[in-house]
Parts: sequence; structure tokens; C-alpha cells
Amino acid sequence: MSKSKFSFLTLIAALGAVSVVTVGVVGVVNNESLIQGAGTTTISCNYINFGTTQYTSTGVLKTASYSFSGNGFSLDSSTPFSNSDVYGNSSAGTYAARIGSSSAAGTVTFNLASPVYITSIGIDGFLYSTDSAKTASIKVTTSANTTGFSFTTTSTSETHFSDGGAFASDQATSSSFTIASQVVVRFELVKIRIETRSAAPTSSSESSASSSSSSSSSSTSIESGSTVSSSGSTSSASDISFHFLELGNAKTGDCTYIKAGTNDILIDAGSYYDSYTSISTAINQYCTDGKLEYVICTHAHTDHMAGFTHNWAKSTDTSGNGIFYNYKIGTIIDFAQANSTANIYDYYKYARSYAVSQGAVHYTALQCCNQTDGASKTYTLGTNLSMEILYQEYYASASSDENNNSVCVLFKQGTSNYFLFTGDLEAAGETSLISNNPSLPKVKLFKGAHHGSYTATSSALTAIIQPEMVAVCCCAGNTQYTSGADHVFPTQDFIDHVAPYTKAIYITTLGSFSDKSVFSSFNGQINIAYNAGVPTVACSNNNTILPLSEWFNKKGDLYDANTPNRVWPSNGVPL
Ligand SMILES: [Zn+2]
Repeated sequence: MSKSKFSFLTLIAALGAVSVVTVGVVGVVNNESLIQGAGTTTISCNYINFGTTQYTSTGVLKTASYSFSGNGFSLDSSTPFSNSDVYGNSSAGTYAARIGSSSAAGTVTFNLASPVYITSIGIDGFLYSTDSAKTASIKVTTSANTTGFSFTTTSTSETHFSDGGAFASDQATSSSFTIASQVVVRFELVKIRIETRSAAPTSSSESSASSSSSSSSSSTSIESGSTVSSSGSTSSASDISFHFLELGNAKTGDCTYIKAGTNDILIDAGSYYDSYTSISTAINQYCTDGKLEYVICTHAHTDHMAGFTHNWAKSTDTSGNGIFYNYKIGTIIDFAQANSTANIYDYYKYARSYAVSQGAVHYTALQCCNQTDGASKTYTLGTNLSMEILYQEYYASASSDENNNSVCVLFKQGTSNYFLFTGDLEAAGETSLISNNPSLPKVKLFKGAHHGSYTATSSALTAIIQPEMVAVCCCAGNTQYTSGADHVFPTQDFIDHVAPYTKAIYITTLGSFSDKSVFSSFNGQINIAYNAGVPTVACSNNNTILPLSEWFNKKGDLYDANTPNRVWPSNGVPL
């Protein structure tokens, strides 16, 4: 074991109940917590360096001894690795543990010095199948629950997983937990989080916990004074899934369909009038009753509202292809301010009026935040699942930049899963959002603001929300909005602001720098589901993350023959 690693672990242990520890590579802010006794312990492999000293540069197991001590329980794994195909990822600088090689599965077992009541284990990593004909999986089990939970993929590109599963058998103490890769697979482990409690549950919670293998003990069974198990609460929350749609043309635009419990939600309906067909085809896979309980239009730009209406809509229209004409609509929430004098805004208002005439209710974001006229700031979508309209100042007084009038929405699943949508909010709007929401949380998923523009997704915002995943609706490389290579979406500035927190960046559509009419799928429709709090990424084309994509690394496209389209910054998380 290296001394530096020991020192770091000792530091964490010494900090004890201090809830936030910031460590790591310059520019990487990785908040981890260690709670005494019961609570959450996060081990970040990047920083304890499973690979740095334990392994040779060729990835052969050299030594595998390290220890970890915390207050209330300790983790001791004198011989944690049972397979020689476990090795360190020898990329520059920092390392993740790699479990399994291209041809062999691997197993890593962590032994707990003192048995503890484990309520859930969260893992963060990247899973690869090496044979797309087979389903690769990793399985996490404890000595008290050999069923555990698993992640699976058939993708030979890396598939990002984070968070994990609750253990129904937490009433039994565990003395070890095992992460095993299966089939032909490679799993790069970035982080482990263990949630525990220090005392046995009550007999009533034992019986309820043992009745279901998928739900954890209820938070009420956790001792007072200890940290409530966030995964436990999240695992009992209603499911939510996000679907960032392709829009059927080469134009950039936003459209996100969300299934939240039994609610169908649409945020924006870009990018052009002809997008309606693509949008309806996509959402009808999930929305089977023809009703959208909630529709949000973030701001008065064509690439966010065209699909709600149709070209040449009139106030007297009672039909025509457009979301507001073809679906039953429950509640419409849209921008409080608009400067637009474009025809599209009139067409949108005609269509919205039609929906209201058919029974929809309409509120602005300002009405929601002020809770006036029957509007609510927070809407319950299911069990421990909600949607909140976040206030920012341009609801009350219009920004001359239409983008800053964007409605901002925060979804919450359980006690710790947050998902943020800010439309095309620019840096000025983000500043206002931050100042008006002092407890803006870290988020599991962020919709890249303004399509990955250099003018949005500011470093001030990302430093707060520290997204685990980012989905961007754009036509990458298309010159629709600029002829400059620096400013085509997704921009280098956007990447630089996100990279310190995540490499799990997904893009809907691929365009062309030389022909703005060309389009194809980048990741395609980005589907990210959080079932029982556990994320699964399943894009329609592939799950290749942006920094490893062909477009990202392509030379002679945006720039000269020696310059790639985009560069992963040195302070980015390791690729
Ligand atoms: Zn836009």
C-alpha cells in the first residue's frame, strides 16, 4: 500500500462526521462523505488509486493490499482480488480499478473488518461488453444477500452506470461484498458508496424488508441521529425516465419526453414544424393514452415551440398537426416573459388557446413560483417523486435575450436524485438561478443548457450542480447558428465546464460542418431511466460518450488536419 494512499484514507477517517471532503485532481471537485457508524461512505477509486501502485503499467496484478478504516466500521481487504484480470487502468495521471479484461471476467471482493448492516451499495463505473451478441453484466452482492443487484449491457462501447441497489436483507449483517463481472466484460470502477446503519432494524421493519427483494428498509427504521439512507428512500420512489428526442431534421432544437410515475411530461417541442411527426412517433411508445399530464415550453423560440403548433395556425383552427392539437393536455407551464414578434409565437399561442379550450390549464412559471391563480411551485408526480419550478429573476422582468426567460425545472426522486432542466438559459440567467436557489443540489442528470453553447452551462453552475450525466439536444457541428468552428454545438467551452465532473455526456444528433442539411444519429434518442433510483442509459444509436466519440476526436473537420474537433481538458475526469 502506498503511503500517499494511506495518508488520504487516514485523512478521511480523521475527518469523521465532516460531511464534505473535497479532494483530487486539480479542477476535479469530488464531494464525498463519511458518516460515523451508520451513514454513507464513498470510496473514490480515482483518488485512492487502486491502480497506481498496486499494478504494473501493463496491468498485471502486482500487489493488492490496502486497508480502510472509518468510524464505526472498517473495510479491510488484504486479498481483495480473486482474479488476475483485475488491473489498474493505466491512463495518465489517475486510475480506476478495472475488473475483467477483454477476454476474462473478474471478481473483486471487499472484506469488512466488522460486520455492518448494509442498506445499499452504490457503484459508479463504466461497463463494456466485448461481444455484442452477449449480455455483459456486473453483479454486486453481499455475504448477506447473494442476489444483490446487477447492471447489464450488450454495448461494446462504454456504458456508464452510477449509483446502485438497495439490499433487502440489510437486517442481516454482512462481512463482505463482491463485485463480479460476467460473460466477457470489462468494468472500470470509479467509485463505491456504501450505506450502512449501525443497529439492527426493528422486528416490524425486518418483516417488511424481507417481504420484498427489491425494496430496502424504510427510512423510518433507521436510527434517529443517523443519516437517512438516500438510496433506501430513492429505491422506494416512483420510477422516472428521460428521453431526449431526435427531431427529424438537421436543425438544433429541444424536446424531452419524461415518464414520471404514471405521468407523461413533455418539455419543449422543437425544432421545426415538421418535427411533430418524429416527436409523436417517439412519445407514443411511452404515452399510450394520448394524454400529456404536463407540458412545459421553456421560451419563445422556434426550436423549442414549433412542434406544439403548425405553420399558418389560426385562432380559428380546431385541428392540425401539433402537440397541442393532437394530444389531450393536462397542465401547461410556460415562460412568463417573451419579446418575440415572430409568427411562430402567434402560432404557439393559437395552439395553446386551443388546448385550453379543450380543458388544459395554463400557468406561467411566475404564477407557479408565486403559487397564484391555482398554480403550484411543486407538483407531485408519484411516490417521493416531484417536479419543482425554480425561480429566476427573468420570470418577473423580461431579459432582452429570450433565452434567459427560460423556465427552469428540477425533478426530485427520493431524497437524493435530482434532475435539472434550464432550457436555453444563458450565463446571466444561471447567475440569477443560483442566487435565487441557494440550496441548488448536485444533480444526477443535467440537460446541457442552450444546446451546448459557449454562452450557457457556466462553470459557476456546474461547480454547484456537479452533474453525473449530461444530455445535449443539438445537431453537432451544424452551422445553423454560426459559421465559426468554435461556436458550433457542442462547444469547447461547454465541454470544459462539464468535464471536471463527468465524462458521461450524450448528444442526440450529428450534423455536418460543410453541409448544414445533413444529419444522422449521434447517440440518437437519449434514454436515461432511474428505476428504484438506479440509472440505465440506453440510447437508440449507441452509448458512446462524447469525449470518446468519432466526431469529438475527428481531425480536419472543424479545424485543420492536425486539430481535433474538441479536446478533453487536462482537469477533466479521467477518460
Ligand atoms: Zn434553443
